[in-house]
Order: sequence, then C-alpha cells, then structure tokens
Amino acid sequence: MEVIITGGGIAGLTLALATHASGAAKRIRIFEAAPDIRALGVGINLGPHAIKELSALGLEDALVAASCQPQDYAFFTRHGQLVYREPWGKAAGHQWPHISILRSELHRVLLDAVNERIGGANFITAHRCVGVEQSEVNVTAHFAGPDNAVRAPQSGDVLIACDGIHSVVRAQFYRDEGPFAYRGTNLWRGVTRRQPFLTGRSIARIGARHSTMIIYPIRNNIDAAGNQLVNWVAEIEREVAVPVDWSKPGQLEDFYPVYQDWSFDWLDAAEMIRSAEQILSYPMVDRDPLKRWTFGRVTLMGDAAHPMYPQGGNGGAQAIIDAATLGRLFETESDPAAALKAYEATRLPATSRIVLQNRSAPPNVIVDTVEQRTGGKRFEKLEDVITQDELRGIFERYQKVAGYHVTQIAQSQAQR
Ligand SMILES: Cc1cc2nc3c(=O)[nH]c(=O)nc-3n(C[C@H](O)[C@H](O)[C@H](O)COP(=O)(O)OP(=O)(O)OC[C@H]3O[C@@H](n4cnc5c(N)ncnc54)[C@H](O)[C@@H]3O)c2cc1C
Repeated sequence: MEVIITGGGIAGLTLALATHASGAAKRIRIFEAAPDIRALGVGINLGPHAIKELSALGLEDALVAASCQPQDYAFFTRHGQLVYREPWGKAAGHQWPHISILRSELHRVLLDAVNERIGGANFITAHRCVGVEQSEVNVTAHFAGPDNAVRAPQSGDVLIACDGIHSVVRAQFYRDEGPFAYRGTNLWRGVTRRQPFLTGRSIARIGARHSTMIIYPIRNNIDAAGNQLVNWVAEIEREVAVPVDWSKPGQLEDFYPVYQDWSFDWLDAAEMIRSAEQILSYPMVDRDPLKRWTFGRVTLMGDAAHPMYPQGGNGGAQAIIDAATLGRLFETESDPAAALKAYEATRLPATSRIVLQNRSAPPNVIVDTVEQRTGGKRFEKLEDVITQDELRGIFERYQKVAGYHVTQIAQSQAQR
C-alpha cells in the first residue's frame, strides 16, 4: 500500500508513524505546504489519552524529557480564590503522564522519529496540496510550491488529509461550508520566563467565561535561577473575531486591561502577562461536525476533520488518537479504503461529541457555576456556595466526554 499524507503537523506526523508501525505500507510520504518548519514558541497540553498512543509508538521517553508533567489541576475565581483542585496525570492514577510541552519540541520529537523510521526523503516540504482526484484504483494529489508554481502530481492507494483548520481537501468535498463558527471569545497566549508557581507542577485555571486564564509550565530549569517557561492563555469575550491564524501576533493593549488587577498572593498574573516574550492571538472558532469524512480513497483527519474550540487541551490529542486508530485499522483491514471507512465509523461520533461539548460546557464551567452563585464577588466560605462533591461531579462529567477520565483510559487499555 502507498500512503499519501497531506500536512506535516501533529496528525500527519503521528499518522506516518502509526502507519509505519502497522507494517501495512510499502511507502509513506508526507507532503507539507511550508517550505521549512517554523518553531511557534507556545505550549500545548497532551493528556494521558494521547500520551498512551504516543507511548505505543515509542515516543514517551523523548516527550517526557522535553516537557513538564503537571501533577495537579487547580481552579480559582477571578479574585484568585481556590475553588477546586485535583491530582492530575500520573498523580491521578493514570498509567501515562499528562505532558505540557512547547509545540516546537513536540514537533521535533515526531519529526525526528519520522526521519529515523521512514526517512527524511519522505517528508516533502514546499508542497501545498491544491486538490485531489481518484479512480477505482488510486488517488492523485496535485500540488503547488510557495511561489504557486505547479509541482508534479503524486499518486497512491489512499490519501489522508491532515492539512489543518484551513483544509483544502475538506473544502473540495464541502464547497459551501462558509465561515468558521465564532463563539464570541478571542484568545491571547504567550510564554513567560519566571519562577515556578503553586507546586511548580500545576495547571491553574482562573476566572469564568467572560475572562479566563489557563497557566501551566512547559519547561523546567531553563537557567541557573531555576526559572521555568510558563505558558498562559487569556480568553476574553469579544464581539469581533481576530484572524484564524495560528501565528498572528497579539497586542498587549487589546487584552491586558482586563487582567491588570489579577495579582494574587500565589501568582502575579498581570506581571506574568507584561513579561511575556511573545504574544499570539487566535479566535475561539470551530465548525459543525460533519456527517462524513471518508470519500473512497480519501479521508480527513485532525483539525481538517473536526476543528474544535481550543479549550480543554484536546484538538491535538484527538488528532493523535485519530492517527493511532487508523494505523491499527491498516493492520487489521486488508482493503485500505475499508480501513478509512472503519476509521470514520469509530472516530467521527467520538470527536463530534467533543466539538459540541466544548461549545456548551467548556472546562471553566466549574468556576462559572461558582461565579453565578456569588454574582462574581469574593466568597467568605466556599462550602456556603458549593460543595466539593458537586464540583468534582461537574469536572468528572466534562472529562468523560473529553475522553480523558482515568476510568476510561484504563478501560480502553483493557480492551486492546
Ligand atoms: C490557541 C490554541 C491552543 C491549543 N491548545 C491545545 C492543547 O493544549 N492541547 C491540544 O491537544 N490541542 C490544542 N490545540 C489544538 C491543536 O493545536 C490542533 O487541534 C492540532 O494542531 C491539530 O493538528 P493537525 O495536524 O490536524 O493540524 P496542524 O497542527 O495545524 O497541522 C496542519 C499542517 O498541514 C500543513 N498544511 C496546511 N495546508 C496544507 C496543504 N494544502 N497542503 C499540505 N500541507 C498543508 C500546515 O502547514 C501544518 O503543518 C490548540 C489550538 C489553539 C489554536
């Protein structure tokens, strides 16, 4: 079997490795639009559900060496008052860690493995897929270079479109999809060098829907003073969306006023924002779940298949699970087109549920519930507002749909 993958991001690289591990492919080629790989200096969270899959591909040690592994997840009101905290990752009983990592490091680990196992010649840059066509016997992808010059078309038995949120292949099958759905929230994110906060291995989520921050370390001991690289994301309700562009620089004055008094005894969030090395902006956008991803010898994967609101740390994780699922199906299905269909049957319903949950019940629903009851004011005693059991129940329900509750990952391991 000859496999063509368009897009060398999280989904494309993981799929190449999973397909290689299946032993079912004679040749695997990844065509990436960018002429070279840019290192975006921001972080990403990957839960145990994703690390389980990357671990099966032999990448856990390399990822752990390049990342932080949070041990607790803590929720605070916008006044910095602790609402709820629970153990996270291995500390919560997972067999695999949760990792927080620079995107460029995640990409490096994946690409190193691709180069070593599949060969650097099969990772082909400066090839932007501009369309696909297929016959009874094969599929052909058409490409352009960065200068729009036409590149030679390439054929294979199957093509998996991992070309991200602006997927050309998706647009070919769904010509009238229109603009992204915007929920009225923009994100600004940055990385700051600073001393560890809380346990030094904590994820902190502060505030509710109208203005929220998510903060977590992505690299330890970056200098002799024991500083960490700390990743932060600030979400604010706004009527107009910023551009849907991953690498769009953000301006401090567009969001800082909301956070300027967020100085708590456990973290000076305002100072952390002011000291950021780089700030990027992104809108909270997604698309309605599709009814179909697979068209004969072509299927969609990752953000091309199921763009979701970037919250709850799950878009990249779901892309990894997509890739691992299809890799396993290549091993068991002798007909590659049947494998694509079976992949869709497994992954489409699961990811559609997450897309919809992220719209209606984002993870900050915990603090939202508290702030609704206090009218956004400081509370005297939390137990007069809400019980820890109720908070645990809210977070547990969220995690179960997101697919990273400790019982689910243990279960799916047992079923293998
Ligand atoms: C602010 C923000 C924070 C996030 N945080 C998290 C998080 O903590 N945890 C998590 O799991 N997810 C997170 N996500 C989501 C996650 O980053 C995405 O879901 C993930 O990157 C999807 O992987 P992908 O491979 O499908 O797409 P991408 O990573 O976008 O990769 C697509 C690749 O295809 C290439 N390409 C594009 N068009 C073409 C073409 N026509 N031909 C060939 N190549 C092409 C691109 O250059 C790129 O390399 C976040 C997203 C955002 C915006």
